Amino acid sequence: MTATANPIFGNMPTTVFEVMSRLAREHGAINLGQGFPDGTGPRDVLEAAANAAIDGWNQYPPMLGLPELRQAVAAHDRRFYGLEVDWQSEVMVTSGATEALASALLGLITPGDEVVLFQPLYDAYVPMVRRAGGVPRFVTLAPPDWRLTAEALQAAISPKTRVFLFNNPLNPAAKMFSAEELALIAEAARAADAVVICDEVYEHLVFDGNAHIPLITLPGMRDRCLKIGSAGKTFSLTGWKVGYVTAAPALLAPVSKAHQFLVFTTPPNLQSAVAYGLGKDGAYFADLIAEMQAKRDRFADGLARIGFDVLPCGGTYFVNIDVRSIGFAGDDVAFCRHITEDAGVAAIPVSAFYHEDALSTVARFCFAKADTVLDGALERLAAHFG
Ligand code: PMP
Ligand code: GLN
Repeated sequence: MTATANPIFGNMPTTVFEVMSRLAREHGAINLGQGFPDGTGPRDVLEAAANAAIDGWNQYPPMLGLPELRQAVAAHDRRFYGLEVDWQSEVMVTSGATEALASALLGLITPGDEVVLFQPLYDAYVPMVRRAGGVPRFVTLAPPDWRLTAEALQAAISPKTRVFLFNNPLNPAAKMFSAEELALIAEAARAADAVVICDEVYEHLVFDGNAHIPLITLPGMRDRCLKIGSAGKTFSLTGWKVGYVTAAPALLAPVSKAHQFLVFTTPPNLQSAVAYGLGKDGAYFADLIAEMQAKRDRFADGLARIGFDVLPCGGTYFVNIDVRSIGFAGDDVAFCRHITEDAGVAAIPVSAFYHEDALSTVARFCFAKADTVLDGALERLAAHFG
């Protein structure tokens, strides 16, 4: 029998996260590649999930999500961003931000539509855009500040542009877009009459006293943006795969039509626990930032002491280095393979996040790990390169 495969997925290599995690296991390396925290997550949120599983409803919940979670998302949007949201017509729960992205792309793209993407980008974006029939158009950002210019943005826009897919704070660049850059995107989206899918999974991982500004809060953007969040990131429970979308009813409706045939729903006990979690007091959210910021500083300072040029990190779980800074002759892929095999520390090559004109000199480390793990990784790198 001839094997059948869709060419978009069939011709793709395995995702870099799986490849590097596997290599890390084979070599007993400390895995700072794939982005996930190594803690247990907040105990009370875990208990809420356990209690809801034992005492609660374990059959299909409503397609758009449990009312308690949709209300909690609306309350969260009001509390953190001053956004007034009708939970019944403007909030949908998804199986992770990944499913929210897939439903948004499938629900909004008509084959042939052009989609503006900002690279470096999360590796799931391009295959999902293509599978939905969209034609990717890239805006390339470059270190050290990954600055967005009006010229670069305009060059990616055409009369066929229908959607922008925008991640802020940006994985893997660890960049928070400035107010000026957000205004540029908003103006361009309005001028092109495009919808902006806003991947804001790292909204609660922003450092140095800065506040995350959702694009949906900018003038004229309320009816043009879908705001996507993830409990995986906000509660350091990446295996949970609970996401949420906030959008005006006319935008959310077609997205919910895709969602109904992709997953229909998301485990109810996890939804219930996330509803509880989103209602936690300000101290929870402040402590998460303080803890992650301290880890960023610990790890970035350690890398700098070894002699690496460390790029600025304003948010996310990630810190980047220039692989040339310690005189490494190869590219980022060779560097990440080398340190995994020979130094015992795994990282992710940032070229994997580009689709055109890949930057090949930057490696990404995840610092959302126990201090002992970070110190252990720094010791290994220092011993190897010192
Ligand atoms: N978008 C970005 C930018 C991410 O880094 C991740 C992390 N895995 C996701 C989406 C997916 O989030 P989730 O695990 O909630 O599907
Ligand atoms: N978002 C995570 C990262 O950037 C990985 C998610 C995954 O493994 N699919 O590392």
